[in-house]
Formats: sequence, structure tokens, C-alpha cells
Amino acid sequence: MPPICRGFSDALPCLFSAAHPGMPARGNPAKGNRCVFCNEDWMEEACRTPRGRHNITRSLKAFRAHYEKRSFVYNTAMTRVPEEWHGTFHEAALQGRRGPARKHTPVETQATAATEKWGQHLANRKRAFKHLRSKEVTAYKKRRTADRSRVAKKFFLDNDLPAPQPSDVAPNDCGLPAPTTSDRAKFVELWCKLGSWGICEKCRSLQPRPLEPIDSRRVAKATITAKTCKQCRGKHWVPQPSEIPQPLRKLNGKLIEALRPLDIDVGPHRQAGNGYRIHSAMVRFSWSELGVQAKIRKLRNRRQREKAQAAYDYLMTDEAESSYRDFVKKHNKFLRKFPGATDADRRRPLQFIETVGLECALWPSLYWCAEMCETTERATDSRRLAAAAAAGRNEALSDDEDDEQEGQERHSIKRSFMRKVLSPIIGYGQDFELLQFVYDLTMWSRI
Ligand SMILES: [Zn+2]
Ligand SMILES: [Zn+2]
Ligand SMILES: [Zn+2]
Repeated sequence: MPPICRGFSDALPCLFSAAHPGMPARGNPAKGNRCVFCNEDWMEEACRTPRGRHNITRSLKAFRAHYEKRSFVYNTAMTRVPEEWHGTFHEAALQGRRGPARKHTPVETQATAATEKWGQHLANRKRAFKHLRSKEVTAYKKRRTADRSRVAKKFFLDNDLPAPQPSDVAPNDCGLPAPTTSDRAKFVELWCKLGSWGICEKCRSLQPRPLEPIDSRRVAKATITAKTCKQCRGKHWVPQPSEIPQPLRKLNGKLIEALRPLDIDVGPHRQAGNGYRIHSAMVRFSWSELGVQAKIRKLRNRRQREKAQAAYDYLMTDEAESSYRDFVKKHNKFLRKFPGATDADRRRPLQFIETVGLECALWPSLYWCAEMCETTERATDSRRLAAAAAAGRNEALSDDEDDEQEGQERHSIKRSFMRKVLSPIIGYGQDFELLQFVYDLTMWSRI
């Protein structure tokens, strides 16, 4: 039996068996019963001959093959290789490994490829509302610049470090440099920037992705398959930009407000120190003082008036699946009946929030048919229906929105709304009044 390697020192036993990485290799009696990785002089010598380098490469390849489970063997072996040979050996050790998953692409190349893919897929997400005005874009850019300068100042300039070299993957990135200590650190950061979400190939929904061990070794693909997509697997309908009826596309805030037969009151505007808006009161609704037609006539710009009128005309036809016209008819009836109605008269009771199809009247371009409304989702929940059938009234049932029981057809306002927020239509997460409406409707349903 040949002796086993005595190791680099007593504290550093040998790990370099090529057959069993992590176990001691055979020691060479001519080299003090050590292997090449545990004998500094022999290592120097071996690196000078092609034959020596060939043998070292062969061992490194064997260690690399066990990298997933025992990365320390390869990493320790590399520390024993003279500095000037690191690059050569590392490259050689990674060569000739079969299978696409094992092919090693530099971190930066992977990041660029994934960023490009994300760009293509995100282009499929479309705004429901009109694009931002240049004033809004400028204000946003200003805020972004301020955020980036603040973080650079805090972590670099205030610590007497030179200004950071940004390594951004998105226009709203933080402007900080990428980690440099190890590939693993780079990959984990890229998981935060590129891998923590996936976009479904089929329905284009976004879906969060947990951090897995493999994320420290490669950048995840931008897309997820329909099989792994929660919405596709659950056969849930996800709204698509192409489904928004033509006359309702690209309306701006002013037009939406003119089209509403109701006024929304979400309480006084208050902001927390961190900038978030505070929920100050439950949402209340009032019939608008003017009829919708009068509101549209009051719009100043002629093109805006035409656009609003076209949307109105569409919404009032039988062709529209929206319940908008029902609300407009009720509103007009109210105005005829109470011509001098005061603010208090026009105010609707709290439970108005549960009126089925209400969203169609308030956000006609986000809710273009009655079936997609959260109020409908709430009213058609099997638990609510069962309770209503049992009790003869549809109140007072406890529903826990958070427990997800797959396979059971239980409707949840929160899930139904989140499906829209993460859908390829941009707009559901943008409107504070809508967010508060959904929040209040959820709370109201739990009481
Ligand atoms: Zn050894
Ligand atoms: Zn999907
Ligand atoms: Zn459902």
C-alpha cells in the first residue's frame, strides 16, 4: 500500500485524492510522502513542465467535478497553485465539461444576456393609462438621481472612498458597484436584480422566485414556463393589454374622473415620514354633482372631450360588458329626483362599497367587464354563497384571505387583485384610490 499524503501541515491535512476529492491523496515517497498540492516545492517544479501542469490540471478537473458538493477541495487546491498559474489552471479545469448546465459563462456575460431578455419580456407589459406627462417623467428622474446620490454619499464619499462605478441592470437601479469578492457574491446580487422574479412565457404574469442554492452559481432565466406559473397552472384568467376595449385605452386621470358618475373620497391626504401615503379613513362614495355628460362637456381640451365622449358612447352600448351604464342610469335618475341635493344627500352609505360591478363605474379602463371586478369576486365566493344560503343573508362570515387551499374554488379579493397587479397590464398598482378601495373592500368583507 502506498502511503497517504502527510498533508500540507498538521493543521492542514490532505484533501486531494482525485478519485475521492476531500480524502487524502497518495503521498510520493520521493517528495516527503506528500502529494503535489501539499508540497510547495514540488508544485513550483511541476508547474514548470507541461507534463507536471497536465497532471495538476487533471486533478483540478476531478475536484471541479465535485464542486457542487465540495467546493472547498477545488478552492483549497487553487490556493496551493502559484499565483501566476491561477488563470491558466482555472480555465483548463473548466474545459471539456459536457452538458449545457455545466458550461461556465462569465458572470457578467450571463448578467448582460438576462438583462436583455428582461428588456424584451417587459416590453410586453403595457400601460392601461396614457403615458406619463414629461413633467411627471422629469420629477421621477429628479427623485431617482437624488436617491442614487444619497446612497453613493452614505457608503462611499462619507467613508473617504472614491465615487462608485455603477453596475446597473435597469434604469432605476441603485448606481452601486457589483460585488468583487467572489462569483458567488456576484450571482447572489444578480438574483436580487434579475432572478427574484420570473415572467410567464404564456400569460406574461410576474411571479416572485425564492433564492435557491443554484442562484449562487448562475443567473436565472427571465421566463418561467406555464407549468411553473401559478396562474396558468390554476387556469386563472389573466387580463392582457390587447383585451382592453379600444375606446378605453390610454385615457388619462382627468378623463377617468370625468367619466365617473361617482366621486371617491379616501379621506385627507396624509403622508408618513418615509413618503408612503397613510390610510386615513374608509373610502366613501358620493354621486357626482353633475351628470357624466355635463362633466365631459366641461373638459377644456376639445380632443380630450372627444376621447371621453367616445369612451362614454362605447360604455353605454349593449356591446360593452361593463356595468358602467347601470351606474350612470342610477346617477341620472338620482339627479332628476333630487335636483338640489346637498353633499350629504349625494353621499352613499358605507355598504355601497360592496355593490357588484362598482369598479366598472370608477375605473372603466381597468375593469372593462363586470366579471373581473373584485366586488363580483367577493359576491361569488363559494363560502359567502354557502353562508348566505344557510343564513339567508350574506354577512358575518369569517374568511381568511391568506390560507391558500389549492383545488378548492374559493374566491379571494386579494388574490384576484394581485393577479391583475402582476398581469402584463400596468395600472392596477398605480392608483392610490384603487389600492385603498381593494384594501377597504377586503376589510369590509371580514367584518
Ligand atoms: Zn496532499
Ligand atoms: Zn402563466
Ligand atoms: Zn376563481
